[in-house]
Amino acid sequence: MNEISEHDIIVVGGGAAGLRAAIAAVQTDPGLDVAIVSKVYPMRSHTVSAEGGAAAVIKPNDSLDEHIDDTISGSDWLADQDVVEAFVREAPHELIQLEHWGCPWSREADGSIAVRPFGGMKIERTWFAADKVGFHLLHTLFQTSLKFETIKRYDEWYGTKLLVENGRCQGIVAIELRSGQVRALVANAVILCTGGAGRIYPFTTNGAIKTGDGMAMAYRAGVPLKDMEFVQYHPTGLPGTGILITEAARGEGGILVNKDGYRYLQDYGLGPPEPWPRLRAMELGPRDKLSQAFVHETRKGRTFAGPYGDYVHLDVRHLGEEKINTKIPFVRELAHRYVGIDPVHEPIPVRPVVHYMMGGVHTDVSGATPVPGLYAAGEAACVSINGANRLGSNSLTECLVFGARAGRHAAAFAAQRPPRDRAALVAQARDEAQRVAANFIRKDTGAERVAALRAEMTRAMEEGTGIYRDEASLRKTCDVLRALRDRFPNIRLDDRSLSFNTELITALELDFMLDVAEAVAHSALARTESRGSHQRTDHPRRDDSRFLKHTLAYRTDTAPRIDYLDVVITRWPPAERVYGR
Ligand SMILES: Cc1cc2nc3c(=O)[nH]c(=O)nc-3n(C[C@H](O)[C@H](O)[C@H](O)COP(=O)(O)OP(=O)(O)OC[C@H]3O[C@@H](n4cnc5c(N)ncnc54)[C@H](O)[C@@H]3O)c2cc1C
Repeated sequence: MNEISEHDIIVVGGGAAGLRAAIAAVQTDPGLDVAIVSKVYPMRSHTVSAEGGAAAVIKPNDSLDEHIDDTISGSDWLADQDVVEAFVREAPHELIQLEHWGCPWSREADGSIAVRPFGGMKIERTWFAADKVGFHLLHTLFQTSLKFETIKRYDEWYGTKLLVENGRCQGIVAIELRSGQVRALVANAVILCTGGAGRIYPFTTNGAIKTGDGMAMAYRAGVPLKDMEFVQYHPTGLPGTGILITEAARGEGGILVNKDGYRYLQDYGLGPPEPWPRLRAMELGPRDKLSQAFVHETRKGRTFAGPYGDYVHLDVRHLGEEKINTKIPFVRELAHRYVGIDPVHEPIPVRPVVHYMMGGVHTDVSGATPVPGLYAAGEAACVSINGANRLGSNSLTECLVFGARAGRHAAAFAAQRPPRDRAALVAQARDEAQRVAANFIRKDTGAERVAALRAEMTRAMEEGTGIYRDEASLRKTCDVLRALRDRFPNIRLDDRSLSFNTELITALELDFMLDVAEAVAHSALARTESRGSHQRTDHPRRDDSRFLKHTLAYRTDTAPRIDYLDVVITRWPPAERVYGR
């Protein structure tokens, strides 16, 4: 059995960011040998479930400055403006590149790229492939990656720890799920593209695999997690399952009404209720404001009460069957399958649901973390273009732009071929194998169950770090999370097998999630202001004098240590966020 495998670059994650990074690395330097490690087959990454679209300026009525402006005001001025400028500038190139690789973007009758309106984007710039954008985008990247013989894959290998030796990241320890074998995967550079962590909450659009593993691995290796308090609630999830009804439904003209049939968003500073098809703000406002408006409607008793909590109606009936079938066929399918209604004839019940982590592994504009040799991109990273609130359709494009950047920079770093500390790396991997065996597989003491601890964690997160927060509830959540951390060593597994031990993987994922959850709760407790998705009822105003700063959470043996970093402001001085006026 091999204890060690060696490559030039290891990309952890086979979603949009990971595949884009791997392709960029081998295109930068065809001599490099790149490995993609993924806990699921790449086409099962969460990217595949994206529905609505990817943003980039392409139409003559649009401009780079307008996209930058929307992104910065959408972020409530917490995005780094130099990074947003690079992002917006490189975005069109990335989407055209995908077109050349075979992505079937939807088109206008004249053959040009079609774009749709999206929340918080004041001009239409969201490219789409019907409402199965993630599927087509990921498929295009995957098939392109297959063209390169220098890209190897470790499908269904689970990374547990970064190998840091001599102050440099030199690889990762991973378990092959099929055999249970633990191996040191050694490389000159590692790019974390492990996606988000929505599963630290009970009600989320995120797939079960989104457990923040890469964020926690970097955090344990001494890299700070940035802006973790900013958690996006998407305003339109299906009650019960949390399955997403894409913003494209509103982009195409869907409206939100309360139980009185009233378009309630007009009461929350989101503009006048223009009749379809002239929707501008209102339903196309940013996600943080729409989710907050829902909470107020509930408090006023103007939402429907249902078995899975309160909800409102998303009505697309006026679009007509033909438009629904061509532009948002998947919305029709999901509503039919999961709530048993046909949106052509009935409104869709929806409620806010945890969707996206604005925060993540602290990187610079090249995707580099403070640990040499370690890079991060995609939802796992915080580079930061999203600040306190991400705009819909910026994330897929972010995965492409910054996946490519991280790939190129990691390639340049790896090409220097720094020396490898093989013996020390193998020893670290052996220790890690020993830890996994002793703490989980061979351990027969302890009475705690993974599912029970996980349920307590997600409940605490919802209660303390939801759409609205205050000091008392945040403190309580921090205490619950610490108690869960203390109880975690007492968990016991029933499954002792080595092959596809899914119980073991859920335990390792919970271990990672507890770290990520603590970073979220403590970062939120320390930020005594309200900005974007972080709304403190005890500190309702934005406070630029104290908090025009990124939060950096560092892992310690006790509570996270919180520090701050100035936001980069270039040409857009902080101002009020205005929609629909
Ligand atoms: C339902 C839904 C719809 C969305 N729609 C849109 C949209 O229309 N437009 C938009 O811009 N954004 C959308 N988003 C957000 C966007 O899709 C994601 O932010 C983005 O796809 C994340 O891509 P990623 O490459 O960073 O991570 P992911 O696609 O989540 O991939 C993560 C990868 O990391 C691997 N991995 C994780 N942990 C480990 C480990 N320990 N060991 C080995 N491998 C590991 C996984 O196997 C996977 O391959 C949507 C999100 C959801 C949930």
